[in-house]
Amino acid sequence: MDNQSWHEFAEQLTYSTQAFINGTLTNSAEGRTFSCINPANGESLGDVARCGEADVELAVTAARQAFNSGCWSELAPSERKKSLQKFAQLIEANIEKLALLESMDAGKPISDAMGYDAPATARCIAWNAEAIDKIYDEVAPTSSDALALVTREPVGVVAAIVPWNFPSVMASWKLGPALAAGNSVIVKPSEKSPLSAIYLAELAFEAGIPAGVFQVLPGFGNEAGQALALHNDVDCITFTGSTAVGKKLVTFAGESNLKRTFMECGGKSPHIIFDDVKDIDKAVATAVSAICYNQGEVCTAGSRLLVHRSIYDDVVSKLKDGVKNWQPKNPLTIDSSMGAIIDEQQLSKILSYIDIGVKEGATLVCGGKQVLQETGGFFVEPTIFTNVTPAMRISREEIFGPVLSVIPFDTVDEALEIANDSEYGLAAGLWTSDITKAVRCSRALRAGTVFVNNWDGGDMTMPFGGYKQSGNGRDKSLHAIEKYTELKSTWIELD
Ligand code: NAD
Repeated sequence: MDNQSWHEFAEQLTYSTQAFINGTLTNSAEGRTFSCINPANGESLGDVARCGEADVELAVTAARQAFNSGCWSELAPSERKKSLQKFAQLIEANIEKLALLESMDAGKPISDAMGYDAPATARCIAWNAEAIDKIYDEVAPTSSDALALVTREPVGVVAAIVPWNFPSVMASWKLGPALAAGNSVIVKPSEKSPLSAIYLAELAFEAGIPAGVFQVLPGFGNEAGQALALHNDVDCITFTGSTAVGKKLVTFAGESNLKRTFMECGGKSPHIIFDDVKDIDKAVATAVSAICYNQGEVCTAGSRLLVHRSIYDDVVSKLKDGVKNWQPKNPLTIDSSMGAIIDEQQLSKILSYIDIGVKEGATLVCGGKQVLQETGGFFVEPTIFTNVTPAMRISREEIFGPVLSVIPFDTVDEALEIANDSEYGLAAGLWTSDITKAVRCSRALRAGTVFVNNWDGGDMTMPFGGYKQSGNGRDKSLHAIEKYTELKSTWIELD
């Protein structure tokens, strides 16, 4: 589609703004709503149901009833697979609508939403559908007078609390394995990007996933989110979001029923360019996209660029050129590579960190300003700081915007020490032409994912998650299914 077609499509687009409870679109119990804002122009996309405790009660009751009825939980995996495949096909058939919702609700370029978010959501559901009827349980080795079974069972009612940066993809990373394993899932999307989750629930229902099995409660974290996390009949909280909220959720689980908790949290990922990098231009172009993609609002953003001192000046000069291709534009323009920041609050946070960087004595070599104010939207230039020291706040704290800290180093050990000197451990990357160095450094890096001579490589086959305060548990791959199942041991004595 060309620019005009996307704009026309946006003008005609209709979508639901209610909660999806027990197979029905519904207003919140108290009739409350919140305004959903398009970050590209500051205009309202509609009033969305603001769910609270009463809605959580209804959804958990419906989820439990569906689970206990066995209408989904006790189906043969091959039957669940059929419905999930149909769900994935319906997403694919409506890919433009899902992409447009993501772009308008989260400010992301339409080409990214079409190239990644919407198809990746469908792929994740389809991948888990395909996987679930190929997983076997175990028979433990015993003497001949016993039969010992190790089986997996769905955990029950799963609440998935997800963020705004990749709304449908993050929801699908939870939904895919949790639904495939037979659970009833309640998604609480971010209040900043609720629309795609509601749409996914409608499509899932159309695909034959029974009422109560996939529900959506839009609303605020400290209302619907907190009520889910404290609920005694929710068996598992699976979360993607900030470390601060992740810590709260673990506490809520402890204060209530010790529900299982899986936390995918923040990051401050180190990206190392060694002096023996084979293709410095490719490394620098990748470093730029690693901080600019999705406006830098990426948990694995390569926000700390560690560069060997002998190539530091060259890299900085190439970075300055590179960001020229990443200037913010209206997200519905098909050649836009950077869209809008999610909201005014996040924009202020980014601008305040730029201010902090300057005050800390780092050198602002490009960017640093809010732009396109005339649109009413929230746009910021890609920003590069050099002469950053590892102690500075801009190199320690997650900014979640297109702000890069470039840090020089002299030796491999120093690079590793700086890289690991972080409370986070989500991802890390390195560029070298020496395979031994690559392997030794990958092993030494305390991160859930290490990219060698690339950034953000991987697909559904690779587990994704963090070390340290970046969280626990893994999304994607067969390992994700482990989170949504209980392991049962059955020891049978034989005559
Ligand atoms: P956030 O923690 O503010 O919110 C995430 C979700 O938690 C939202 O749905 C929010 O409503 C809910 N929430 C907030 N307070 C709550 C409470 N008291 N009780 C229950 N729920 C509550 O995060 P965000 O700003 O939406 O997203 C950005 C963060 O997400 C960044 O830190 C980023 O690194 C992280 N993230 C991590 C991954 C990963 O896979 N590790 C992926 C994407 C984003």
